[in-house]
Amino acid sequence: MKRVDHVVVGGGIMGSATTRALSKLGKKVVLLEQFRLGHKRGSSHGRTRIFRFSYPDAMYVAMAQESLELWRDLEREAGTELVHTTGGLDIGPRVAENARALEERGAGYEWIDGSTVRDRFPPLSLPADAEVLFQPDSGVIYADAAIASFVTSAMDAGADVIEERQVISIEPHARSVIVRTPGGDFEGDSIVVTAGPWAKKLLATIEIDLPVRPTRETVAYFDCDTSSVPTFVEWGSPSVYSLPSPGQGLKVGEHIAGPVADPDSDQPVDAQSVQRMSEWVTERFTGVDAEPRFSETCFYTNTKDEHFILERHGDIVVGSPCSGHGFKFAPLIGRRLAEFAVD
Ligand SMILES: Cc1cc2nc3c(=O)[nH]c(=O)nc-3n(C[C@H](O)[C@H](O)[C@H](O)COP(=O)(O)OP(=O)(O)OC[C@H]3O[C@@H](n4cnc5c(N)ncnc54)[C@H](O)[C@@H]3O)c2cc1C
Repeated sequence: MKRVDHVVVGGGIMGSATTRALSKLGKKVVLLEQFRLGHKRGSSHGRTRIFRFSYPDAMYVAMAQESLELWRDLEREAGTELVHTTGGLDIGPRVAENARALEERGAGYEWIDGSTVRDRFPPLSLPADAEVLFQPDSGVIYADAAIASFVTSAMDAGADVIEERQVISIEPHARSVIVRTPGGDFEGDSIVVTAGPWAKKLLATIEIDLPVRPTRETVAYFDCDTSSVPTFVEWGSPSVYSLPSPGQGLKVGEHIAGPVADPDSDQPVDAQSVQRMSEWVTERFTGVDAEPRFSETCFYTNTKDEHFILERHGDIVVGSPCSGHGFKFAPLIGRRLAEFAVD
């Protein structure tokens, strides 16, 4: 049995960020990932995610502001750009709430109409009189590079990262937690479970009931000159978003539109969702081929109110920050989970 200070279960973006944060606190940490880092069965794979300040709740605006500073720190350490600023657009019936929350936090924004959008961001084609919120700090997170940067930084600070090592059981004891894996066991003062859509099943084995619902979501990539394309969210039921994804085209997704699913099952794309996205692209953009280049799936782990679960049960820290919008906060959440693990 190997003794460490802390064990982190799951090497998606949240586990990688937490491992780095713990290592930077001088702790001896092991990160256990059941597959290879960057695999496509969970929530963190792919080239890009949206970074945005624009939220209807000022708490999330504040978290995004703090996260951006932390992303810039990681960029400096990694020597590579991780958040590329493009500006972002929001439309929809309740976007005035986002403007109020931005104002409360002193973040800049501008109301523009559809004609201005067409002039500034040519492939976008919104009705001339559309009321559009423009926020200049939005952008694209280079997702796979972000995971690699957290992991490299964690390993440089002494963390042990073990791939293809599935945690099969967790045993809480009086002063430590034992984690069992087929390749050997680990004992730590505490463990952090950042197991994404697998967390509910794993935690149920130690009688922690995680109130989440994993859904399999589909994203599609369309041929488009994205050189002047900002991030874009059309709030509705479901909300639809798009972002430039370098080398892949325009990435489009529907927010919480997929079926409840088991991450261990096969993962077909949802053809109806792809069809709706094709129609949306045709309506909102000009010169974009309605037939996607390709599409893929990704898991959301949803709470009812779409807030995150970050909590400590005895010596077990649980991090389930998803509901389809957690990536942008990863450096901040990693720091919080590390603080929970230490104290
Ligand atoms: C389609 C899609 C679009 C999104 N868009 C955005 C966006 O634009 N902006 C944004 O901010 N967020 C976005 N998100 C949300 C964001 O990607 C997630 O919040 C984030 O990836 C969650 O990461 P995670 O580390 O919690 O989970 P995961 O990435 O699923 O990582 C969990 C890891 O735990 C491992 N694991 C599980 N069980 C075990 C075990 N027993 N032993 C060892 N390892 C185990 C898994 O293999 C997995 O690698 C999006 C998500 C999806 C799916």
